[in-house]
This record gives sequence, C-alpha cells and structure tokens, in this order.
Amino acid sequence: MLRFEDIVFGPVHSRRLGSSLGVNLLPPGGKLCNFDCIYCECGWNRDGQGGGRMPDEASVRAAMQARFPVLAEEGIRVDSITFSGNGEPTLNPDFAAIIDTTIEMRDRYFPDASISVLSNATMTFRPDVLAALKKVDNPILKIDAPTDAGARIVNRPSAGYHVADIVRNLSAFGGDFVLQTMFLRGAGCDPADAGWLGGWMEIVEKLHPREVMVYTIDRETPEKGLEKLSAEEMERLVRPLADKGFNIQIRG
Ligand code: SF4
Repeated sequence: MLRFEDIVFGPVHSRRLGSSLGVNLLPPGGKLCNFDCIYCECGWNRDGQGGGRMPDEASVRAAMQARFPVLAEEGIRVDSITFSGNGEPTLNPDFAAIIDTTIEMRDRYFPDASISVLSNATMTFRPDVLAALKKVDNPILKIDAPTDAGARIVNRPSAGYHVADIVRNLSAFGGDFVLQTMFLRGAGCDPADAGWLGGWMEIVEKLHPREVMVYTIDRETPEKGLEKLSAEEMERLVRPLADKGFNIQIRG
C-alpha cells in the first residue's frame, strides 16, 4: 500500500495534473481518514495511523522552504502542488493556514504551478476549510455514491456522513470545483445500476461542477474482488451528461 514518510514528496507524474509535487498533511507512514474506502491506496484505517503527528503550519512551511528552492534552482518542472498523501488533508487543524502558506510559496518558487487538493469533502461544513478550498486552483472533491447506503459500502465513512449535507456544502462553490467519482464494481456497488447512476447524475446536474473526473481502480485495493471498469464502459455510462455539455474526464 502507498504511504508517505515525508511532508513534501515527488514530483511524480500524474496524467491529470502533470508534474505533481505532493504534500502530505497526515502523520508519516500510516493512514488517517474519516473515510475507509474499499479502494483506498493507503489501505485500511485499522492498519495503523503511523507513529507521528500531523504536521503543523510551521513544519509544513519548513518542509517547503527546504525543498521548493532546491527544486526551482535545479529547474525541475512543477505543474501542480498537490495535497494528497496518507489520508484526508482537511483533517489537519492547520489546513487553512497551510493553504495560505502554500499560496505564498507557490508564488515565490513556482508561479506557474496550480495548487490542487484531493479531498473527500467531509470537512466543507467548516467555514475555514471551505474558504481555503475556494482559494486553491483545483479543489478536487469526492462524491462516490449517490446515497448514504451506497457511501456506507464504498466509502465506509465515520458516523454522521450524509450525501445530502455534502451536496449542500458543495453548492457553495457555484460549480467552480472538480467533482471526483470512483467507478468500480463489486462488494455491492455497480455504477451501471440504474438507481445508482441516475442518483449520481442528479447530483452532477445539481452541482454543475466545472469538471467531473471519473476514474477507476488502478492499484491493489484493500477490499479484494473489486473490478475495474473499462474506459469504454465509463464513457458509455456518462454519455448522457457529456451530451448535455458537462466536462467529463475519464481516467481508465
Ligand atoms: S477518502 Fe481518500 S484517503 Fe480517505 S479512505 Fe477514501 S481514498 Fe483513502
């Protein structure tokens, strides 16, 4: 499973984001998330949170200060500074301050780079998290299932998660965000199921994100027996939305 030891890692090549310099706001070597997705590349929560703590703003600033000027001086291309790492970045209590620091560092060392945050959107009820996500170039926010029952299968969220709450919070973006959805088959999930697909499409139509990123499993998953969907099938499933003019990117 994929777990990071450093606050700043990479850059790694991402098909979506180009040369992506990662930032991990979770403890090193473990996983910390309020979801426990059956496809999570970091494994199950029960496999451990690692020994350390979440880095505070000062530690993130120091890590960026140690790496960014070196990479810039070496002429290493950075297209995106990307918050991903060992779990859900917005759980870090300093998330909003860290975004301000990142904007400052990006402007100084990689002025052409975007800032991207991959998030499960659960903390968007907090005004500081919502405001910070609105400041970044690419808030990439996850809704995998159209119902709470579906989310309990695919995302296994901690108590209190309701898809309707997330949809309401995301409407505050006025469509200026990227919606990310995993399409996989197995364990009771099937994006081709008429109810599942129709419910998801209703959410997309309601939120009207500037981009919808549909992807499927790519690496080993903690839950066994999950099936990847082909790019052709995903394209076929989302075609009614594409025909209506939605910007849908498929990652097969
Ligand atoms: S939200 Fe992301 S980090 Fe959290 S369990 Fe799901 S895939 Fe893993």
